[in-house]
Amino acid sequence: MSIAKVEPLTTARALRGPFDYRLPEAMADLTVGSVVKVPFGRRRILGVVVGLADASALPAERLAEPIEALEAGTPPELVRLGLWIAEEYCSTPSRGLQLVLPPGTGAAGQRVRSRQELRAEITVAGEEALSGGERLGVKQRAALEALRGGEMSAPELGEAVGSDRGVLRRLEQRGLIATRSSLVRRHSAHPEVGASGGRPELLPEQQAAVEAIVAALDGEAGAPREQLLHGVTGSGKTEVYLAAVEAALARGKGAIVLVPEIGLAPQAVARFRARLGDRFAVLHSALSDGERYDEWQRLRSGEASVCVGPRSAVFAPLQDLGLIVIDEEHDASYKQEGDPCYDARAVARRRAAESGAVLVAGTATPRPESWLELPRLELPRRVDGQAMPPVRVLDMRGADPRSGALHAETWAALESVRAAGTKAIVMVNRRGFAPWLTCRSCGQHWNCPNCDVSLIVHCHTGRLVCHHCAHREPLPSACGVCDSTTLSRAGVGTEQVEALLAERLAPMPVFRLDADTAAGRGSHARILAAFGEAESAVLVGTQMVAKGHDFPEVTLSVILDADATLRFPDFRAGERTFAMVAQLAGRSGRGPAGGEVMVQTLAPTAPSIAHAAEHDATSFLAEEVERRRILRYPPFSHLTRIVLKAESEPRLDRAAALLAEGLAAVLPEDTDLLGPAPMFRVRNRHRRRLLLKASDREATVLAVRATVERLAADRALKDVAISVDVDPQ
Ligand code: ADP
Ligand code: ZN
Ligand code: ZN
Repeated sequence: MSIAKVEPLTTARALRGPFDYRLPEAMADLTVGSVVKVPFGRRRILGVVVGLADASALPAERLAEPIEALEAGTPPELVRLGLWIAEEYCSTPSRGLQLVLPPGTGAAGQRVRSRQELRAEITVAGEEALSGGERLGVKQRAALEALRGGEMSAPELGEAVGSDRGVLRRLEQRGLIATRSSLVRRHSAHPEVGASGGRPELLPEQQAAVEAIVAALDGEAGAPREQLLHGVTGSGKTEVYLAAVEAALARGKGAIVLVPEIGLAPQAVARFRARLGDRFAVLHSALSDGERYDEWQRLRSGEASVCVGPRSAVFAPLQDLGLIVIDEEHDASYKQEGDPCYDARAVARRRAAESGAVLVAGTATPRPESWLELPRLELPRRVDGQAMPPVRVLDMRGADPRSGALHAETWAALESVRAAGTKAIVMVNRRGFAPWLTCRSCGQHWNCPNCDVSLIVHCHTGRLVCHHCAHREPLPSACGVCDSTTLSRAGVGTEQVEALLAERLAPMPVFRLDADTAAGRGSHARILAAFGEAESAVLVGTQMVAKGHDFPEVTLSVILDADATLRFPDFRAGERTFAMVAQLAGRSGRGPAGGEVMVQTLAPTAPSIAHAAEHDATSFLAEEVERRRILRYPPFSHLTRIVLKAESEPRLDRAAALLAEGLAAVLPEDTDLLGPAPMFRVRNRHRRRLLLKASDREATVLAVRATVERLAADRALKDVAISVDVDPQ
C-alpha cells in the first residue's frame, strides 16, 4: 500500500476528508489508526490514517508525504467507532476521531509520550575495578558499590549515592557499567485505600445472573448478548460484575467497566484493583496526562486487559474485548454535553456488537428504554437480607411555615439520629445559600447581567454567583435602587441547610458536599472519608450525596425538594426524579440498625415520587413506558435537538427560520418539528431551540446534517453558532 487516506484533525465543518498522502518507504508499516503529522495547506497538522490504498485518483506528483508518524496509534476498530460517532451524532470525522486517540493527542500535536528511564548494571570490569583497587572517584566508587546489589535506575542511584548523569556516563565510557533505556509506567495517583480481594459466596440470584452472562460469553445458543441487571442498591450487582469480568479474563478476553465519574471513588477502585491485580487499568479525570497515557498504553499493549472508567473509557484500546459493563446505567453523565454529544451507553452497545462482546447494563432504576429493549436479570433483595427502608412522603403544601425549610417531622427524625449516635444524609437540589435575592422595599431583583437567570446567594464567599456563566459580584448589603437594607433571600440551598443543621443539631458535625466544596483535587473523597470516620454526623449536599459510597451507619436519608427536578419542562423529569429518590433511599439502612427515608415535596402524588416511596421500579416503569408510547417519546421516537446561539437577536431569528424552513423541506414525512422556541439567554447570547421527533432516525440525522452544514457555510450567518444534539437528555 503506498497511499494513506488521512483525516485531518481540524474543526472546520466544511472540510471534507479524507485526503490522500503518498507514503515514503520509511512509513510502509503505517496502519489504519496511525497518527501522522502532515502538511495541510500552509500548515502542518495531525491527522489519522483512516484507510490505505494502492492508488489515488490524483496523480502521484500532486500528493504530499506525511512528515512523521507519532509513537502511538489507535486500533482500527476504534477508528471505525470514532467515524461512526461522527455520523450518528451529526458531528465531524475529526471530532469523532479525537475521542479514540491516545490521551493528550490533539490537532496541535501530542503533549505526552512514554517515559523512558536509564538503567545501569555493573560489568565484570566494574567488579574487578572495585576489588582490584583501580583509581576511582569517590562518586564513581559509591555508584559501583551500590550497583553490586543489582541493577538500578538513574534516579534511584541519584537518590541512593548522589551520582548524576555525568558520573554514569564516565563509568560507562570506562566499560565499568552498562546502561540501557527502559520503559516506565507512571502510576496512577490514587490514594492507596485498603480493600479485600476476597470472593464472597454468591447468592443464588447472583449466581444465576453470572451464569447467564457466562453463557453469553461462551456464545451459547439463545443466550442474549445484551442484558439488563436490575437490582436494588446493595443487592450485590458489583459482585456480579466482578465475577463476569473474571470469567471473561479466564477466556482470554478483556473487559470494560463503565461507571459514573463519581462512582470512581477510591474505595470502588481499590475493590476492583484488589480483585484484578495487574490486569486492571483505570482511566480517570483525576489522573495526570502522563498517567492516563500510560494506562492507555498498558491496555493497548495487552499488559492490562480490564479498564474501569467513566464515559470515555468506552474507547479503551483493548484488543480482545469480551465484556462491557455499564454500572448505574441510568446516570446522566454517560451523555457527553459538548460536540459530539455521544451517549456512552449507545456507543457501548455498538462497540460490543461490532466486536462480539457481551453487554451488561446494571442499575436499581433502569431507564424506560433499557427496560423495554433488554432482557432482564433480577436481583430482588439486599445481600444482607435487610428490608428496604420505609419511606415517608412529607407534604410541604400544608407545612407550618415557621418550621422553615425542614418539616417538623424531619427535624424530629434528625434529632433521633443525634440521640442514637448514627448518621444522616440530607439532599438539597441547589448549591449556594439561597437562589434569589430581592429588595423588600422596592422589589428589585438581582439577575445575571449576561444570562436571563437570577443570581445565587453564596454566603461562604460573600458573593452573588451566576451558575450559568462566570459572573460573580460582591453580596450587597443595601439595595442599589432605593438604598433599603432589608434584602430578602428566598429559597434554600446547601449552604443554608448546612448552617441550619449545624446550629440546631450541635455538637453533631455537619459536612457539606457540593460542587463548591468538592472543587479541589481529592476534596470529594476527603469529605466522604471525614463523614465516614466521624462517630455520628450529617452529610448535606446536592445529588452528589446520593452516589458512590456505602456507609452502614446511615440510618436516615432526607430529600428536601424532591419535586425540584419535576418542574423542568423535560419528558425525562419523571424518570430523573424517580431515580434520584430511589438512589437516595438506597443510602439509608445499609447496616444492622436499619433506617428510614423522608421525602419532602410539594407534589406527593406524582407517580415518580409515590412509586419511589414504595421502592417499586416495576410499576413506575410500566406506567412511564405507557405514557411515552402515548406521547410518542423515546423509545417510541427519536429526538434531535438543535440549539442556535447568537448575540444579535434579529440574525438569530433569521437563522432559526431558515433552518426550520430548510428542515421542513427535507425531513421524512412523519417527523414533528417543534419550534423555533426561545430559550433563556446565556453568556450574552440569545438562544433558540428546535426539537425534532422522528421515527426514522437515520434519515433525520442525514437531513439535519445536510441542512446545518449548508447554513454553517452561509457567510451572512457566520456569527450564529449551531449545535446539534441527537438523543438529547
Ligand atoms: P450493589 O452494587 O448492588 O450496590 P454490592 O455488590 O456493592 O451491591 O454489594 C453490597 C455489599 O454486599 C458489598 O459490601 C459486597 O461486598 C457485599 N456482598 C455482595 N455480594 C455478597 C455475597 N454474595 N455475600 C456476602 N457479601 C456480599
Ligand atoms: Zn430597593
Ligand atoms: Zn450568567
